[in-house]
Amino acid sequence: MTNSKFEEIGRILREHQRFAILGHVRPDGDALGSQLALALSLQQLGKEVRVWNEDGMLEKYSFLPRAELLTKPPSTPEVVDVAVALDTAIQNRLGTALPAVRSAKIWINIDHHLSNPCYGDVVYVDPAAPATAEIVFRLIKSQGLPFNHDIAENLYAAISSDTGSFQYPQTSARTFEIAAELIRTGLDVGRLSQQLYENYPRRRLELLRELLRTMRFERGGRVASFSLSSKTAAELGVLPEDNEGLIDHLRAIHGVIVAVFFEELADGKVRISMRSKSDVVNVCAICQKFGGGGHTLAAGARVRGTLDEVEEKVLEEIGEVLKSHS
Ligand code: 5GP
Ligand code: MN
Repeated sequence: MTNSKFEEIGRILREHQRFAILGHVRPDGDALGSQLALALSLQQLGKEVRVWNEDGMLEKYSFLPRAELLTKPPSTPEVVDVAVALDTAIQNRLGTALPAVRSAKIWINIDHHLSNPCYGDVVYVDPAAPATAEIVFRLIKSQGLPFNHDIAENLYAAISSDTGSFQYPQTSARTFEIAAELIRTGLDVGRLSQQLYENYPRRRLELLRELLRTMRFERGGRVASFSLSSKTAAELGVLPEDNEGLIDHLRAIHGVIVAVFFEELADGKVRISMRSKSDVVNVCAICQKFGGGGHTLAAGARVRGTLDEVEEKVLEEIGEVLKSHS
C-alpha cells in the first residue's frame, strides 16, 4: 500500500515537467524545508519547479540551502502541470498560492496532519510521521529520486524543528535512522542546531517578556495561556514568525496539560495555537470545533472575534474537555 502510493507519486513526478511545490501559510521549518528538499530533487531530475509560499522565505529560515528558490506566489497564475501540497492540513491553508496554480491538472497531497481531509488526486497522509519531511525523505529514497547534501540539510532542519529537536512522542527509531542517514551526507549538526535554535533576534525575547506578563492559569493549573494583542505586536515590531515555539514555555510547566497562545490578527480574527501533554486531551479535536485542525498534541485555528471573546470561548471549551476526563 505504502510503496504503491509512493510509486504512483514517483511516476507522476517523472512523467510531468512543470511543478509547483507548495506549503502552508505561516510556514514552519517542516513546511519550508520539505518544500525546498522536494523542489531541489525535482530540479536535479531536470524539471521546471516553482516553490511558492504565501509568506515567502522567512528571515529565520533563510539559512536553508537554496532558500532563494522559495518565493511568494505571483499574483497572475502560471502554467504548471502538477501542484504538490506539503505539510498542509487543508487546501485553503495554501493561501495565495492556491489561485496561482489554477492550471494544475494533478494535485498531490503529502502531509502528516491527522485532520487532513485527503484533498487532491494522489494523497499520502501519514499521521504517525513526526514531520512531513520524513515522508519526503522516504519518497525520495524509495523512488530513487536525486538526493544530495543540500536536500539532506533541508530535510534535517525540517525534521529537527517539527519534532522539537527529536523530543515529541512521534519521534521514532525510524526518525533517528533517517537523521543518521542525513548526517552521513556530511551535515554539521552543531552548526545547523545553532542556526535553528541559537540565532533568534533580540525582539523574540522581548516578545516573550510581554507574553509572560499576560500569563494565566486555570483549572487548577492544568491550563496555561498567554496572549498577544496587535497593539503590543506593533509596539515591539515583531514579525509573525517570532512567536514560533514560545508556547513551549507554557507546556514545559509542571502540572500543565494544555497550553494555549492567543494572537490577535489584523483581520478581526484571533489565531490560536494549542499544545497538549496528554493523549486524553486531543487539541486537534478542540481546534476543529473552532474551524481549525492539526495534530493530537499540537493544533491551531483562526477564530473570529476579539481577543477577550475568543480567549473566553476557547478556555471554556478546554475546561469542558478536562472536566469530562477528570
Ligand atoms: P501552530 O500552533 O504551530 O501554529 O500549529 C500547530 C499545528 O496545527 C500545525 O501542524 C498546523 O499545521 C496546525 N494548524 C495551525 N493552525 C491551523 C488552522 O488554522 N487550521 C488547521 N487546519 N490547522 C492548523
Ligand atoms: Mn509538519
